[in-house]
Amino acid sequence: MEATRLTLNTPTPANASDDAYGFTEPFRAPQGSPIRELFKYVGRPGMISFAGGYPSKDLFDREGIAAALDVAYRSDPIACLQYGDTAGAPALRRSLTRLMATRGVTCTLDDLVVTTGSQQGFDLLIRTLVAPGDTVLIEEPAYPAAIQALRLAGAQIVTVRTDHDGIDVDALAAQLEAMRDGPRPKLLYTVPTFANPTGATLPRARREALVRLAVAHRFVLVEDDPYGELRFSGEPVPPIIALAGNVDGAKDWIVYLGSLSKIVAPGLRVGWAIAPAPIARRMIVAKQTGDLCTAPLSQELVRHYLDSGRLDTHLQTIVDAYRKRCDALVSALAHFAPGQIELAAPSGGMFVWARFTGGRDASETLKRALEQNVMYVPGQAFYVRDADASSLRLSFAAPSEAEAFEGARRLAQALASG
Ligand code: PMP
Repeated sequence: MEATRLTLNTPTPANASDDAYGFTEPFRAPQGSPIRELFKYVGRPGMISFAGGYPSKDLFDREGIAAALDVAYRSDPIACLQYGDTAGAPALRRSLTRLMATRGVTCTLDDLVVTTGSQQGFDLLIRTLVAPGDTVLIEEPAYPAAIQALRLAGAQIVTVRTDHDGIDVDALAAQLEAMRDGPRPKLLYTVPTFANPTGATLPRARREALVRLAVAHRFVLVEDDPYGELRFSGEPVPPIIALAGNVDGAKDWIVYLGSLSKIVAPGLRVGWAIAPAPIARRMIVAKQTGDLCTAPLSQELVRHYLDSGRLDTHLQTIVDAYRKRCDALVSALAHFAPGQIELAAPSGGMFVWARFTGGRDASETLKRALEQNVMYVPGQAFYVRDADASSLRLSFAAPSEAEAFEGARRLAQALASG
């Protein structure tokens, strides 16, 4: 049956005839996104998916977005229809600097580049910094598209250990010491708040230690922060870039990637990067050949949406819903599959990171889960090399509470069936 043909990390086959094109080394047999490979199952009738990092389709602020689009188009149709500045519309950049101020981050228009999703921000940064063979650091487990982007750049990827609180900075310090005689790592990529996939949030002291390591070892610390506002319990922790002021020279080594995908809508494709001037300038040059500018219609819409003041209310709505969905999933898993799944409930974001007990393989179990019409992402997708085969990521953002409950029941059935 269909489910038994399940594969993750399928390399594009390298046919001898393809060689005629002279593809670059990383593109000779590139791996597609493992999560996108799973998408074909999501649309199956009755499927309950804990797989995608999709925001809930029921929770978009459709009315507010429609109103912002209307105002944007009526007030300045030419700005919506014409090419715009590569760095982003100044009015939107101003709104984003105000949004960053609410996160405790002071920045100017010149530090901020609007990007076509934060994914583009990372891609532009890599283009300016990472040559084939360059060493880079990445937390593990990590966001797969970040791993993929570094792979396609031909980087030498060194993984950094994490625990329930994110990057183990002591282990990293030791690792950096050991690497002193080798090539200097160019960057370190991390999602320090409600990480994808682990849901972990790096405590403040570790953030400060990380900043000090970036300055001492001169690597760019990339803080990817699409989930930071989705906190449903506990005290907020400032973004790493907000702590840079406490360490001499730190501002020169931190790049912050922001996104509206998880808090407004991913279809708008609006993100931003805050980077030291020499990096920001080069990212803009890279963007000139990437897409000239982020869609001005989206930028104008987003500016009016942010200026309408609706984001705060919308955030409360989605945070409340995600808290309930997360609770529903965690308690349903404990109820239906006691002792079979270990997990630490997150205090925000969209993901529960879990492990099957007893050495059960998450990719094998997924085949049986698909037979029960429920799915998740096997943890293997989030590792560079040696995966923890029992790990898995469950997203609680998209399914309703009732679906989370039913999904957990089906998952327990899948576990019971093999
Ligand atoms: N970073 C992380 C950690 C993500 O999970 C995602 C989306 N899944 C992105 C970046 C990409 O976001 P965007 O839609 O802004 O490109």
